[in-house]
Amino acid sequence: MNPFKNALSQLARATSLHQFPASFIERMQHPDREVTVSIPIVMDDGSTKFFEGYRVQHNNLRGPYKGGIRFHPETNIDEVRALSLWMTLKTAVAGVPMGGGKGGVTVNSRELSLREQEALARGWARAMADVIGPKKDVPAPDMNTNPHLMDIMTEEYAKITGDTTRATFTGKPVGKGGSLGRERATSLGGFVVFDALREQYNLAPGASVAIQGFGNVGGIAAEIFHAHGYKVVAVSDSRHAVKNDAGIDIPALVAHKKATGTFEGFEDVTFIDPSEIITYNADILIPAATENQITAENANDIKAQLILELANGPTTPEADDILFARGIPVVPDILANAGGVTVSTFEWEQNLIGEAWSEDVVNERLTNLMQASTKEITAIAKELNTDLRRAAFLLALKRLEEATR
Ligand code: GLU
Repeated sequence: MNPFKNALSQLARATSLHQFPASFIERMQHPDREVTVSIPIVMDDGSTKFFEGYRVQHNNLRGPYKGGIRFHPETNIDEVRALSLWMTLKTAVAGVPMGGGKGGVTVNSRELSLREQEALARGWARAMADVIGPKKDVPAPDMNTNPHLMDIMTEEYAKITGDTTRATFTGKPVGKGGSLGRERATSLGGFVVFDALREQYNLAPGASVAIQGFGNVGGIAAEIFHAHGYKVVAVSDSRHAVKNDAGIDIPALVAHKKATGTFEGFEDVTFIDPSEIITYNADILIPAATENQITAENANDIKAQLILELANGPTTPEADDILFARGIPVVPDILANAGGVTVSTFEWEQNLIGEAWSEDVVNERLTNLMQASTKEITAIAKELNTDLRRAAFLLALKRLEEATR
């Protein structure tokens, strides 16, 4: 399942519902620019290794290219292409003045020491210095990259170019140009979208939640849903999965994982196979890990009443059809996880005008934008009797097409 093929198929399914100029559709199918680089790193043992790095700049009709950098062993140019197209749509859905891009490195960062990860981050920034910049392309964290690595990249970029705005990367540490609220923004934005939709689908506090992924996005989503009275009954990370139908003590699990780096040794839960999460008996399913998790193979076995996509591309087009026919709404990634890039954009704005906004201001602006987009997308879905993904694509594409004129 090639993620870029899936993304193009999603695009085709949406554009068939509206008359867009053929040249515009073609433009959306082709990223503006793709850069592949080889990044040499001196390893701790003194040897030199080369890692393949990418930046795909999909589209900048609405503003500078924008999107994260992923360090992952399965990352390749097709995945980054797909993610860059989704970013173009996501920034348009969010209504922020940004385009879409994505970056990555094929690497298992778990096998790298902190110094080696820092060297890789520096190497990526050095290799891409010509094509990125505050008015050109503004990268951010994604899987296995974090505020510290964004700070390293910012430093390296400043050293090379003399740029002192700190606005070339977002998701930086607070106090080093980062924005309050950025770390929680993806999960909080997802919750805001869910909260705006839940009545329509008869879901209320007390409902049960299963979450795949316990990183920056899945872990914080678990905390937020738990704090709002939802019962998180099953969660997985990249190695383990645990369940407790009475509700997992999420703050305790978060503390345990922070202290030990693993779910192992945590009490009051039963360990299950991570493959059971997607079809777990819970009212709400939150995929917050990688692509292609909900497929034609398991879509018929899903028990959730609503799926909130905090991961990028977790559902294949075939699975979308099955779920739509079964009446299970899928809140699409380009809406559900747009909170991250929204607050990244706020960070960039703060850097450019030399301000630091309070967390309340950030969260209020985030909430307003996410609520407005949710409303528009629901209205389109209703009007066209289609799923929320096609509706979200249409909202984004209309905004993008407007920008061509
Ligand atoms: N990597 C995140 C995403 O997939 C955030 C991108 C950003 O903050 O620019 O949306």
